[in-house]
Amino acid sequence: MAEKTWGAAPYWGLGYDWDPDWLLTERQRELRALLIELCEREMRANAKASDDDLVYPRRNLELLGEHGFLALTVPEELGGLGEDHVGFAMAAETIARYGCASTAMCWVMHTAAVQAIMLRATDALIDRYIRPLNRGRIGTLSYSDPETGSHFWYPISSKAERTETGFHVRKRASWTTSAGFADFYVVQTTSPDFSGYDDLSVFVIDGEDAIAQPATWDALGLRGNQSGPLEVPGVDIPADRIVGPAGDGAASNDEAVDPWFLVGSSAVWNGLAMGAIDIAKRQTTRRRHADVGLRVADYPTIQDYVGEAVMDTNACRIFTFSVAQAMDDATDHNRRVLAPGEFARATYLHWAWQIKFEAAKNVTHVVDKMLHACGGSGYKRGDMELERYLRDAKAGWVMGPTNEVLRQFVGKAVLLGFDALDYWNQTFNRRAVENELRKLDAAGKRELAEQLLAEAAQDEGATAAA
Ligand SMILES: Cc1cc2nc3c(=O)[nH]c(=O)nc-3n(C[C@H](O)[C@H](O)[C@H](O)COP(=O)(O)OP(=O)(O)OC[C@H]3O[C@@H](n4cnc5c(N)ncnc54)[C@H](O)[C@@H]3O)c2cc1C
Repeated sequence: MAEKTWGAAPYWGLGYDWDPDWLLTERQRELRALLIELCEREMRANAKASDDDLVYPRRNLELLGEHGFLALTVPEELGGLGEDHVGFAMAAETIARYGCASTAMCWVMHTAAVQAIMLRATDALIDRYIRPLNRGRIGTLSYSDPETGSHFWYPISSKAERTETGFHVRKRASWTTSAGFADFYVVQTTSPDFSGYDDLSVFVIDGEDAIAQPATWDALGLRGNQSGPLEVPGVDIPADRIVGPAGDGAASNDEAVDPWFLVGSSAVWNGLAMGAIDIAKRQTTRRRHADVGLRVADYPTIQDYVGEAVMDTNACRIFTFSVAQAMDDATDHNRRVLAPGEFARATYLHWAWQIKFEAAKNVTHVVDKMLHACGGSGYKRGDMELERYLRDAKAGWVMGPTNEVLRQFVGKAVLLGFDALDYWNQTFNRRAVENELRKLDAAGKRELAEQLLAEAAQDEGATAAA
């Protein structure tokens, strides 16, 4: 097995023997070696500047573009590297582990936005957004709505209307990675002929049409990823900037946005966990206690911490790669063209929920344990960098779909079936209503019945008027 290097020297963290390399192609291993080289040469140093001063990691993203990674998953005939879901997971993990987690998250959002476009690619979208990618053009996803928080699939504050030449789009997003820095935003709004909250549409908005206030961004970790609020203040866009047919939003979520985001972000959390273990290895094998003549790494307690962290993290990595492989199998390694109504990755969405939950849960635990292994030295800001990994890792649990939401999705789907998930609050829960009604006396029931009859009459009037 080749030796992992860091510049001219052997890598100071865990070697390739602890990476599940049998899951990667030779080409993917070469791309990983190139990414590690870029991290060593420049990206890791830039991570510190991003973290210290809330600097957007533009240089790191440009560097990725110079080597083709901004179009990693785009077919070669369109100027990309033609990689698949496993290649994507490998790259996200590698950038986060050896380089910069903020860059990794911006890049994951960028790639998920690119793939949302590629799901319904047209000549116009390809020419404007896909072919120029490696010239350093950055995209991102703008979904989360201030009114619905982590229910990012529910865009209450957004609207699209038809115009003579295209669409008039309004969007308010509470969080958008790369807000104010991206060249294009893939946004989700209610559809032009809106018929209810599962009727959503996807548009691409150019950077100059969106308003962001990067100066207001400040956060515990991923400080370079600039996930501030974003507003598209009612702009007219040409008809060719809709992605897919009107009403394709839910399918786009299930087939592109969620699968790519969940695989990529899980890989980022796994990369951060491995990066923290790397740092703990370096620190505990170098630090020596003069009184007992032992290194910190010689204490069995520390060995236990590291052993458990490696096994738990590798379980999460193999889980993530395995779901990525399933998506590769379903899509002919990301080459299959799907018409609206056809699904491939979406078949594994409930698996993608699980990998994100496990990766985000694991990294939170691992960074804490690696801090314990490194002691007070790990707590300090400085060259060791562990505290940055710890802060960056904490974003995993709270990023939508949050881990609270995911474990409820899975538990509810297992116990009550997928229909019970009711993303858009449409299914009437008769059992809950009947339970509440039992608490009312006759007068209370009568009052409620009168209110309901009045509302029904109002609704019928509104339907007749329309
Ligand atoms: C670093 C970072 C980058 C981000 N980047 C983007 C981006 O690029 N694009 C984008 O669209 N969004 C982005 N987000 C937003 C993210 O997806 C979530 O929307 C956001 O983190 C939710 O925060 P909130 O304060 O609105 O949470 P709230 O929705 O207020 O949640 C508060 C608590 O309630 C819990 N909760 C919510 N709903 C339920 C439920 N149904 N059952 C049980 N518990 C529930 C949550 O899990 C959480 O514990 C980003 C977030 C972070 C942290």
